Amino acid sequence: MARNIGSRYTAHQILGRGSAGTVWLGEGPEGPVAIKLLREDLASDEELVGRFVQERTALLGLDHPRVVGVRDLVVDGNDLALVMDLVRGTDLRTRLDRERRLAPAAAVAIAADVAEGLAAAHAAGVVHRDVKPENILLDMEGPLGPGGAHPALLTDFGVAKLIDTPRRTRATRIIGTPDYLAPEIVEGLPPRAAVDIYALATVLYELLAGFTPFGGGHPGAVLRRHVTETVVPLPGIPDELWQLIVQCLAKAPASRLRASELAARLHDLQPLLKGMPPLDVDEPDAEPSFDADDEPGYPAIPSTPRRAAVPLVPGAATDSNRDTHTSMRVPGPDELAGGARGTARAPRTPGQRRPGSARHKVVRRRRITLGIAGLALAAAVGVGGWLATGGDDEGVPPQDSKQSAP
Ligand code: ADP
Repeated sequence: MARNIGSRYTAHQILGRGSAGTVWLGEGPEGPVAIKLLREDLASDEELVGRFVQERTALLGLDHPRVVGVRDLVVDGNDLALVMDLVRGTDLRTRLDRERRLAPAAAVAIAADVAEGLAAAHAAGVVHRDVKPENILLDMEGPLGPGGAHPALLTDFGVAKLIDTPRRTRATRIIGTPDYLAPEIVEGLPPRAAVDIYALATVLYELLAGFTPFGGGHPGAVLRRHVTETVVPLPGIPDELWQLIVQCLAKAPASRLRASELAARLHDLQPLLKGMPPLDVDEPDAEPSFDADDEPGYPAIPSTPRRAAVPLVPGAATDSNRDTHTSMRVPGPDELAGGARGTARAPRTPGQRRPGSARHKVVRRRRITLGIAGLALAAAVGVGGWLATGGDDEGVPPQDSKQSAP
C-alpha cells in the first residue's frame, strides 16, 4: 500500500500512530526515511500550514546526534508531511511499559542523551514543549551505553508549537495527560526552555519510579499538583541524583538547571550508579481517573496508576497516545489558585496511599460524577477545557481563559 508524498518520497508501511498523525516507513532520494503524515484536520488548516512553512528553517536547521533530524517538509495537496531520519528501534514509552522501571544507570544515560539534544535545540532558540517518553526514540542499532541503554533521540521538535494555536487549544475534543507540564505553563506563562527541563526531570523520575511525580486522577488535579505539591524522595535513590531531579522540578523556572549543565551532571553521576538495580518503589494506588461506569455515554477508562486520558465529549475514544498540551487548554492562575479551596495536599511518604485510593473512593465518586456532569455541559456549549471535579481538595473551578500562543 505504497503512496507518494510529494514528488520525492514514497510511504511504504505504517511504523506508528501518534497524536499529530501517522508515521510511515518511507523512501526518499537518499534512502530510507520516516515520514510523519499529519492528521487531515491539521493538514487542512491553512493557518497551521502557513506556520509549518514559516518554521521550516528552524526545524530543518536542527542537526544533532541526539535529535531526530527533520530532512524535509512536504506540503502537497491535502498532505502535510515531515520527512525525518529513520530511527530503527522503539520509543521510550514502549520500553517503559515493558520494564516498568529502569536501572538508574540506564535511566540517567537516556536522560543525559535527551538533555544533550535539548541543549542543542535551546542554543538554536527552539523549545520542544512536548518532552515525554513517546517522543524519545531509542536507536537499537546504536552502541549500548551505561546500564545497557541504547542511544536516545528526541523527536517531534516544533510539532507542539505548530499545532498549538489559541483556536486549537480551545479544544472540544480529546484531552490527555498533563503529567509533564511545567507549573509556569499551567499558570499561563509562555513556554521557555526551562519547561523542557521540567518535563525531562519528570521523565527521569518516571524511568526510576515507574510513574510520574504528579500524575493520576483528574487532569485538573494533576495540573494543580504541578503548581502546589513537592516531590517525595524515592526510596533508595542516591542523594546526588535526587537533588538533581528536585532542582529540575523546581517550581521557579530560573531555579532549574540549563540543559547542557544537566547533561554534564548526569554523565558525572554514572560511576555512582554502576551496577545498581532498578529502585524498589511501591506502585501508587490506581486512581479512578473518572468513574465513567457511572456515566452512560462515557467509555470506561481503566484505573491504571497515575494515568489520565479523559474524553471531553461523551462517546469519544480515549487517547491512547497520551496526547499532552498540544491539544489541551490550561486554566489561568486565578483558576488554579481555586480561592480558599486551593490547598495543597500534604506530601505523602513513600508507600502512603493517595487520596484517590479505595477508602476515599466513595466520596470521590460523588465528586467525580459532578465533574462529569460539568464536562458534559461544557462540551455541549462548546467551550471545552478543564473543569472541576467539584471536590474541595482537587477541584479547579470552571473558567474560559486561553493558553497563550508562543
Ligand atoms: P507521538 O505523536 O505520540 O509523540 P509520533 O507521531 O512522533 O508519536 O510517533 C508515533 C510512533 O512512530 C512512535 O512511537 C515511533 O514508534 C514511530 N516513529 C516516530 N518517529 C520515528 C522515526 N523518526 N523513526 C522511526 N520510527 C518513528
